[in-house]
Parts: sequence; C-alpha cells; structure tokens
Amino acid sequence: MADEYLRCLNTEQLRAVRHPHHVPLQILAGPGSGKTKVLTSRIAYLILHEHIQPQSICAVTFTNKAAREMKERLTKLIGKAKVEEVKTGTFHALCALFLRRYPNRVGVKSNFTVCDSDESKTILKRLLNPYKGYLDERHLSLEVRTVMSVISKAKSKGQTPHDLATSSNDIDHVIGELFESYERFLRENNSLDFDDLLVYGVRLFSQQQVSNWCQHVLVDEFQDTNTLQYDLMRHIASSSRCVTIVGDPDQSIYGWRSAEVANLARMKLDFPATVQIYLEQNYRSTASILRASMAIVSQDKTRIPKTLHTSHSNGCTPVLQCFPSEQEESACIAREIKRLSAASGGLLGWEDFVILLRMNSLSRSLESALRKEGIPCRVLKGQKFFEPYLQVVDNPDFVPAFERVINVPGRGIGDKTLGEILRAAHAKHISPLAFIERIYDGRVPDTKPPVKRKIASFVKAVRELRTAARQGTMPADIIRALLGLVEYEEHLKRTQPDADTRWENVMELINFASEVQTDLNDYQYALQDLTEDVEAGGDNERDQDWDDMPAETEAVELDEEGFVEVKPATPGIAAAQEDRASEASTPLRLFLQASMLSGDSGEGGEEGEREKVTISTCHSAKGLEWPVVFVPAVEEGTFPFALSEDTNEERRLLYVACTRAQNLLYLSHCTKRLVAGKQMGRKLSGFVCAVIEDSPDIFAENMPEFDRAALEQMAAILAREIPSEEVVARKLAEFYRTDHYHQFTDTSSKAMSTTFVAADAVYRADAGKSVEQR
Ligand code: ATP
Ligand code: MG
Repeated sequence: MADEYLRCLNTEQLRAVRHPHHVPLQILAGPGSGKTKVLTSRIAYLILHEHIQPQSICAVTFTNKAAREMKERLTKLIGKAKVEEVKTGTFHALCALFLRRYPNRVGVKSNFTVCDSDESKTILKRLLNPYKGYLDERHLSLEVRTVMSVISKAKSKGQTPHDLATSSNDIDHVIGELFESYERFLRENNSLDFDDLLVYGVRLFSQQQVSNWCQHVLVDEFQDTNTLQYDLMRHIASSSRCVTIVGDPDQSIYGWRSAEVANLARMKLDFPATVQIYLEQNYRSTASILRASMAIVSQDKTRIPKTLHTSHSNGCTPVLQCFPSEQEESACIAREIKRLSAASGGLLGWEDFVILLRMNSLSRSLESALRKEGIPCRVLKGQKFFEPYLQVVDNPDFVPAFERVINVPGRGIGDKTLGEILRAAHAKHISPLAFIERIYDGRVPDTKPPVKRKIASFVKAVRELRTAARQGTMPADIIRALLGLVEYEEHLKRTQPDADTRWENVMELINFASEVQTDLNDYQYALQDLTEDVEAGGDNERDQDWDDMPAETEAVELDEEGFVEVKPATPGIAAAQEDRASEASTPLRLFLQASMLSGDSGEGGEEGEREKVTISTCHSAKGLEWPVVFVPAVEEGTFPFALSEDTNEERRLLYVACTRAQNLLYLSHCTKRLVAGKQMGRKLSGFVCAVIEDSPDIFAENMPEFDRAALEQMAAILAREIPSEEVVARKLAEFYRTDHYHQFTDTSSKAMSTTFVAADAVYRADAGKSVEQR
C-alpha cells in the first residue's frame, strides 16, 4: 500500500522520483506530463524512503492554490500530520512567513502590510502627479504602468533607486526619483510590496542560520522564476545542495515580470552535478486537444522542439466559433455549459468548467451571462472591501488603507479635513489613526466639534476590532463585527442601486475568509515549527549567534493607546524581541497576508467554494486542469495583447490556456467588442489563423456531440487519478442514478479507464441496468 503511489508512475517518472536525493535534478517536460505529480511523489519518496524530515523539506509552488493542491495530493500519500510539517508555499508566502518570524534580522517590523500591485499603482500614481508639468514641458509622457514595471524590474535585478536616478536620460531620471520616493513611502508606511518580500527574503536567507534548516528544496514551474526567486532557491539550498526543479520553457509566461528561462542554465552552473530527466507522455488531454495546442506553440520557430504524445484517443475536436458581439459569445458559453452539464447526467459538475481570459476586464459580460442561466460562478479576483479596514487595524502606519476607509461608509469627512489630519499626523510622527484617536480622546486642543463627531464612529469601530484581533478572534468573525459596526448593509442600501447583489458578494467574502481561516492553522503550525527548527537545531553555537547578532533596526512597540512609539533596540535582546513580535502574529495578520498574497503573484484568488464555474485569467490557471475549458476573445489585440512586447510569450500563454483542457476545448472570438468603452472591429488571433491555414481540420465549427463515447472517455480521464476515484465513482453513481456510490470505489486498479468499466460492470451486476437501457 505504501508504494502504491510509485506503481502508477511510468518508467521515466519513477526514475525522477527515485533519483538520488543529493544529486540536483531538473525535470523538463511539456504540460500534463506529470511534472507536478512527480514532484509530489518525490516529496513522499524523500520522506518515506530517504527518511528526510518533513519539516526540512521546502516545496515551492507558483500559486497558493497550487500549494493547497500539492498538500491535498500529499496528504493521500503520507498523511496529514507529515504534510503539515512540509514547508509548502509560493516564494512570496515563504518569505512573508520567515520575515514575520525574524523581522529584526533584515530591518522590518513584524506587522508590515503586504502591499499588492493595485496598492502600489495607487501610490505611484500619486507620486507621479507633481512630475506632470515637468514632463509636459519636455513633451514627454510617462504612465504609471511603465513606472511600476521599471521599478519592479529594477528591484528584481537588485538595483537601487540611485542606479536609475543617476541616468542622464530624462525619463529614467524621473523614474529613479519616483523609485526613491516610492521606497521611502513604503518604509514610512511599514509595508512591503511583492518585490520587497523577495528582496528582504533573499537578505534573510543569505544569512547562514536561516538557510540551515532546509535539507531539500523542490520548485514547481521553475521556468517562471525571476532572478530574485532563483537567488532565494540558491540560498535556501546553500547548505544541503539538494534541489529538484520541474519546468517547461514552452510555458514560460512571466517574462513581463522578469522571469528568466535562463535560470535553467544558471542552475546547471551553480549546481554542477545537475542531472536532467525528460518526460514525454501527456496524461491530461485528449489527442485532439494536444494536437491543437502543439500546433499553436510550434508556430514559434525560436522554440526548441519537444516530443509529447498521449495514449488518449482523439475525443471531440476542439471548437472554434465566431460571434458578432461579446454578449452573444458569453450567452453561448453559458448555454453550452448548461447543455454539457445536463447531457453528462451529473458526471460534470459546475466545478469542471473554466473560462480562461487574457485579462480580468473581459469577465463582466460572462458573469452576467452565467447569472442569467442560473449558473453559479466564482471570479478569481474579487474586490475585498474590508481589506483596508483590517489593514488599518493591523498596521496603523499604512496610510493608504486609512485614506480608503476613513470615509466608508460616508462620514462627511471632506478632502480638506482628511488632508489636515494627514499633515498633522505626519508632523507629529504618528499614524493618522493615532492622531484621530487623540482627537477622540480630547487630547488635541482646538478640534472643531463636527470633526470630533465625524470620526467618533470610526475610532470606536477600529478600537473594538483591534481588541478582537489582539484576542485572537478569527478573521471571519472580525469581518462580521466590522459589517455591524459600520452598518455596511444599510450603507449599501442607501447608496447602491444593486445593493442586494453587492451584499451577496460580501457574504461570499465571509465564506472566503472562513476558508482562508482553515489554512491559517497550517501557517501557525509552520511558524511554530520553524521556531523549533532554528532554535532547537541541535547546534548551540549557532543559537548563540542568533542572540548575539546586533539588531539592525529599531524595535516597535504599541503603547497602551495604540500609538506607535519607536524605541532603539538594545543589541543582544533582538531575538527575544523577535519572539514577542511573532507571538503577535494574530490570526487577522496571517489572514491579511494570505489574502493579499492570493490577490496577485500570478494567482488572483483563493480556492473559493467548489461547485461553481471558474472564471480566471490564463496566467492564474497555470499548472491546473479542468475537463472543459473555454477561451473567449481569441482576437488580435487580446491574443496577443496589444500592449505586450513579446509575441512569443503571448503565444505560449494561449498554449498554456489550451493545455489546461482534459476533454473539451472551446476557443471563440467576436467580430466586434466593446474595448475601453468603444465598439471596435476585431479579428481572429493570428496565432489561430496560422494554425487553420496549415491544418483546417484542427478545429471544428460546431458544438461537439456529447454522446456516450465522449462521456466514457471523459469518465476515463477523470478517473485515472487514484485520489479522485471516489469522486468519479460518486459522479458515476449520480449518472446511474443510485446513491450507493461506494460500490464504485472498489477499483483498486490504477489503470485509469478501468474505473468506468468496473463501475459499469458493478452497477450492471447490482442493479441489472446498463447505460444503454437508460
Ligand atoms: P503542467 O505543465 O500543466 O503543470 P504537469 O506536467 O505538472 O502539467 P500534472 O498536473 O502533474 O502535469 O499531471 C497532469 C495530469 O496527468 C494529472 O491529472 C495527473 O494526475 C495525471 N498523470 C500524470 N502522470 C500520470 C500517470 N503516470 N498515470 C496516470 N495519470 C497521470
Ligand atoms: Mg504542473
């Protein structure tokens, strides 16, 4: 039984899983070839056969969702207790975890706020304003997006503002100054943006004591690591030298975020003994989906050709359809989902469908079309209105959050008053929250009574929430309390015509909070575990080092009124302060971190409820798979995206989207679309035109026949994974209209397609019915 997971691997996969622990390994292969499966199995193998301690294994995934999936898969192999000890997460999440634990080592405060890219944009927009006149005079223009991207690239290369500001080029010079102000702003507001998490993470992990705990590091989706992430990996693996990475250069889609496929070659230099293993069999998709996907990606003549074959039969030909408008496209997708769901007799649940978009802005008409058909859907990135409120509670220094919520719901605090509050707080070197608390407490003479009245409800709410947070109240309960305190439902009813829908969304967000909450146990566990790793570590000398290291920064404490008082830290007591700081990692703080990290870094959202159709960006879908995939708006301007600088990367993105499909793939495009408020004529994407010219039969125009053969193949593909057999059996039972699904789980066979046949046989014997008789 213990080796069951090894028996369902092919020869090459098995070779990769059992590859000697101490020899660095690169597994390179196309989509659906089982890279992630091999990585997961290798972790199990390291623990069960090589007796590596689970807590000294670090598994890096690209998204939080992928981390959760990996944990789910691992749980089936090695049990929950061991899985929780393995450090699994994105590079960002791992950095955040360690930075909260050892903030003083790198000069941050433990209650830093993670600033997502929307937030960064808002900050930069404001910093850019004063430069407008200067640029106009020189007939130059500079967009926030460009500034963000240049700064982010500079950070990932380890450049400082000074490196840019000294440029003689006008634009670079301005960006350099903006970079400097932006960094200052982040530090003053006690926040770290996504790049900072990595920058400070690298600093932390380059200290030998921190990297010592890790005996083996494994990285999924390695082709999308940037230089900082690569450096992190190198530092984490610096003492053990044991590394396993999996990747696929054809799926590199984060060049725009400075990802470097060249890291594959770098790794071979840094870890000279590195061995490469290639996997060539695709287990995910039908042959016709694989053929269409390969036809798309192989248009890129610069790419190194790769073999990928499948043992699955052709299945339904992928569909390519043209619509006159996005409304019709969306309506047709919604109807098709309904049709398939009904025709599959329960085999396909809503969660088996995904709609993959080039950009979030395309989701609106799809959401409303799905709603019209009564199909529940979840959009991966939601506006979480409560986030800034909770940020203010957790980190009063973070001014952008304060500005967002001080007047929500409307308290009649105008821009002028707000400006005065901010200026006064700044002058006194305290947070604006601390300042209005002083006003509320009557400690600011000359405050006008109306101002006092207006801020009263806000201060009361924040104080109440802060107490709850410090007592360790769970985030979902804090959000519920917040809704009551600020009378949010009434506020919506007063101000929004679609208050009901919005309120429903808020309720959804509470569900989201409850889900993240379950994950918090893992975070807390990991933190606690980490303390033991580093502090017990069996190496007293090293522990001594920890304590003796002078603190590089000043420690922060909240006085009883919640004002931030900065006191110089005494060298020698840094470690003790760190302990105290990490104890203060309340569930709320961990929740905020999980929530902010899920909003970006390539992902866009939490798992959310099951049994819903997913609408996601193509980027966020990386590494995942669904039985049915729709890719709308496959048009010039969208695919490739008009603003993208790298056409080949756009093509790979479409390839990634198509290779998510297991059984059915639908591409569509419109002849007209509303773009930035204007109706624009649209043309089919050149990526697809090229394919049709070469092989017109790769796509079909009509919707596929969803007959018994299609259904059986689907059941076979869905059934192949041992962990999901029970799920498939349950679905089959639904299909055969019986509640006794457990009779279908008795298929210990790993041969995938046998599940369906076995289920059919069992059912026939048991109930005397067969598919044909239905
Ligand atoms: P991507 O590049 O898209 O991340 P991947 O190479 O990581 O793909 P996986 O997600 O690991 O591929 O595997 C794709 C599917 O194939 C999964 O459902 C997995 O369970 C299944 N699979 C992989 N190897 C086998 C195997 N030997 N037998 C049966 N199913 C397999
Ligand atoms: Mg994968």
